[in-house]
Amino acid sequence: MSFAYPIDEHRFRETTERQAQCPGVTMPSFVCIACGRRARVKGCKRLTTGRICAACHQAREARRAAA
Ligand SMILES: [Zn+2]
Repeated sequence: MSFAYPIDEHRFRETTERQAQCPGVTMPSFVCIACGRRARVKGCKRLTTGRICAACHQAREARRAAA
């Protein structure tokens, strides 16, 4: 009886995940259209005009709530 880890499947999953994002970029990032800075994709908001970072999205939401 063996509990060999399916390393091939794991490796395949890793490779496809990397390709699904930005190939060649280790950390997925984008340029925020609101502040113009490079930000991480995590927590960003996609708009029709582009992407905004999490901080700008929060500020935008706060402005919308206040108005
Ligand atoms: Zn921003």
